[in-house]
Amino acid sequence: MDSGYEAVIGLEVHAQLLTETKIFCGCSTRFGNPPNTNVCPVCLGHPGVLPVLNKKVVDFSIMMGLATNCTINRDSVFARKNYFYPDLPKGYQISQFEKPVCEHGFVEIETGNGSTKKVRIKRIHMEEDAGKSIHDLGETTLVDLNRTGVPLIEIVSEPDISSPGEAAAYLKKIYQLVTYLGICDGNMEEGSLRCDANISVRPKNQKEFGTRTEVKNMNSFRNVERAIAYEIERQIDILEDGGKVQQETLLWNADAGKAVSMRGKEEAHDYRYFPEPDLVPLNIDENWITGIKKSLPELPDKRKQRFMEQYGLPEYDAKVLTAERETADYFEQVIAETKHYKLASNWVMGDVAAYVNEKKINIAEFPVSPKNLGELINLIQDNVISGKIAKEIFPEMIETGKSPGEIVKEKNLVQITDTSELEGIVKTVLENNPAQVEQYKSGKEKVFGFFVGQVMRETKGKANPKLVNEILRKELSK
Ligand code: ADP
Ligand code: MG
Ligand code: ZN
Repeated sequence: MDSGYEAVIGLEVHAQLLTETKIFCGCSTRFGNPPNTNVCPVCLGHPGVLPVLNKKVVDFSIMMGLATNCTINRDSVFARKNYFYPDLPKGYQISQFEKPVCEHGFVEIETGNGSTKKVRIKRIHMEEDAGKSIHDLGETTLVDLNRTGVPLIEIVSEPDISSPGEAAAYLKKIYQLVTYLGICDGNMEEGSLRCDANISVRPKNQKEFGTRTEVKNMNSFRNVERAIAYEIERQIDILEDGGKVQQETLLWNADAGKAVSMRGKEEAHDYRYFPEPDLVPLNIDENWITGIKKSLPELPDKRKQRFMEQYGLPEYDAKVLTAERETADYFEQVIAETKHYKLASNWVMGDVAAYVNEKKINIAEFPVSPKNLGELINLIQDNVISGKIAKEIFPEMIETGKSPGEIVKEKNLVQITDTSELEGIVKTVLENNPAQVEQYKSGKEKVFGFFVGQVMRETKGKANPKLVNEILRKELSK
């Protein structure tokens, strides 16, 4: 529907980095430890202590910067972001302000019907996470500081996104990149990947941006899409009624399906940023960047392209198979066993994906080894078993972990490809069903399927379907 308005959206994404220790101290980052046990004087903000930067955090930030085509700033500066909150023991968060580690990048997203679009990345900066306030255990609010000082990168896009669908595609791309790089687990429900959306609307022919609001608290891809759609509509309604959009921060409430005002512009924070005096400016030399560049894994877009070129797969297959790194890895392990790429792709996208989704497991935990799946595909392709038998033994492979060859042998499921044996069976079927043969000969072609079914029944599904078809046609034309 054309409303006469267009939406302008910019996303700020926080990704929790998978380092062993926190950004400025040696405390563990492990999730789920008893409250307030992963803490020390540094992350508790005791007086007189000094932060020491975790090099791994810089490594990970450079990785993400390179993966998003950013410039890696050779000099960057940490800054204090000051605000008061119970889960922030120091009274400030160490972040980056004027000189972030990465700037001026872009990612490419798909916008439907085969077209792509560049979304520019404004900046990526490093910062420490705050603690967690727990409001749902009794009447008081409790504070857990295990998360305080856990490293984050914040990835800020330019306002290049113009619909809820594009926002979801952008966020999925960020998810894909951080998980391919192995720098974040990408879990939105647990908050390892968090997204805030800045949203404004403007009449279609207007150049200037409209007033923007910021929507927070969307903890799934689906909710990001829903919340943005809701907010766009709310803003258009206000303008249509002759009103003005107020600059404010809203909280998405997934159950209610709406966003509620959290704070207005008057209450907006003035963070009084200033350079962090306890940390020297960070210098990243060329060698550091080159080293990281060399260590980068193959990224999703490239891998997708390669799947199309090297394995001759359709774009759709390549996209599905490379959506998650583990799926692409599994597929490539399967085709180390078999050269039948398209059939392998069908199995991984079909039966394997169905099981993995249903059981809500990671494909890396899928009980059928890539080697066994590759063997199964070879058995089908070499006409040892039919596709139908393959579907039948697949659940048994899942359950027992046995190789398909073993199961086929045990159960005597080898496909019948012996022409004379099949001819005999076809003849018996035709003799036993004279009425249907009569029907077929008088032009009722549909009964052909009936004959195929009878032959399959006689052979317990083991007959080679192609041969059965050929022989049946031959016998019936006699
Ligand atoms: P701030 O310094 O207030 O956080 P930024 O310029 O860093 O503002 O922008 C924050 C986010 O808001 C970015 O993702 C940016 O793309 C987005 N943004 C800026 N202006 C608008 C606008 N008018 N409408 C929608 N998003 C916007
Ligand atoms: Mg901001
Ligand atoms: Zn600590």
